[in-house]
Order: sequence, then C-alpha cells, then structure tokens
Amino acid sequence: MKPVFEFILATGNSHKRDEFAVLFDQEVIRISSPDKKIEVEETGETYVANALLKAEAYYREFKKPILSDDSGLTVEALPDELGVQSARFGGPGLNDRKRAELLLKKLELFKAQHERKAYFTCVLCFYFSPEEIYFFEGRFHGVIAWNYSELGDDFGYDPVFIPEAKQEEGRAVSELKEWKNAHSHRAIASKYAETFLKSKL
Ligand code: IMP
Repeated sequence: MKPVFEFILATGNSHKRDEFAVLFDQEVIRISSPDKKIEVEETGETYVANALLKAEAYYREFKKPILSDDSGLTVEALPDELGVQSARFGGPGLNDRKRAELLLKKLELFKAQHERKAYFTCVLCFYFSPEEIYFFEGRFHGVIAWNYSELGDDFGYDPVFIPEAKQEEGRAVSELKEWKNAHSHRAIASKYAETFLKSKL
C-alpha cells in the first residue's frame, strides 16, 4: 500500500537512518534515503534553525518533501559546551568516540549521579514546501555514565548516556537498541509528528 506521506531524510548519518526506519507507521509515513549527501553547514544557534537549514538545502536539491533532524546532548555541569554544538564538542578532528571520552574526562570531578544529569533533544522539521513547514521536539533525560560502554551500538553519545528509567541497572542506551526506539528524544518527537500528520488526514 502506498503511504500517505513520503519524505526524503536529510541526513548522511547511518545511525539516524536506522532509527527512523522503525519510528513511523509505514502505512502513513514512509522515509527514504537521498541518493546523494548534501553538505550543510550548521550555523544556526538553535536546533530549529539548524533543522531548517538542513531541510532547505535538501529541498533545493530534490524538490520533494523533506524530513530533517537536529539533535544534541545538554549536560547540566557543562551548560555552554554541548547542546546545539554537540557534534562539534572538542573541536574538529574528533570522532564520536573521542567526543564521548572527552565528555567523561571533563566530568571526572562530578562524581555523584545528581551532578551528571543530562538530556538529549531532537527537533524534527517536516518540510513539505517553503509554505508548509512543521517542527516537533522530543527530550530524553538521564545521566552521563562513569565509563564508556563497549556493548551494543556506538552512535554518538549513546555509550555514555544512562536513561533515567535505567539508572538502577546502570545500562548505557547503546545497549538498549529496541528500548531506545520507543523512548528516545527522536521517538518522542516522531510520535508527536505522527499524531499531528494523522490528524490532517
Ligand atoms: P546532529 O543532529 O547531526 O547535528 O548531531 C548532534 C550530535 O549529537 C552528534 O554528535 C550526534 O552524534 C549526537 N547525537 C544526536 N542524537 C543522538 C543519539 O540519539 N544518540 C547519541 N548521540 C546523538
């Protein structure tokens, strides 16, 4: 059956592509990957501004509805360092693992759980055309782990992020792939979007 809404996903990030592949009711929202990656400079000061920049760049190229995602990690003990700038934390030349390890290092003096609070934010931009654009936001709360988890998926800061609901078990979200797809910042924003888009039918 043909889905009602089809969007091209404005990302070259394979982890995000894998997550979006299972987040929507396929009969309503179908997401496809672009056949070419567009480089977009994330110069915005907010998630909304950066999600819009990505959507506009892909729309200019493909002239079809676009879904873009801008996300990041806010760490309470380092209020000015990550957030919208999470992908650039530590400067150029670092990979995901090195950024996560730098975060652990910077939190060495913040040993107690309550000093390590953090949350992921995801802003989704559903860009139908320059005249019709919708944004949805989701947040996912937890703490920064004390060690880098070698188990499971190694997407971004997942190996050093323990969700609030998993604090007693002390498991990083990288070890909880299916659970993450139901509870993450991206899952929450996607659910808001799906509810809204279904209400338009
Ligand atoms: P951007 O949205 O591609 O600009 O990425 C923002 C930064 O946050 C990157 O360093 C990502 O690796 C990280 N990030 C965003 N979402 C997640 C997630 O779900 N898990 C782990 N890291 C993430």
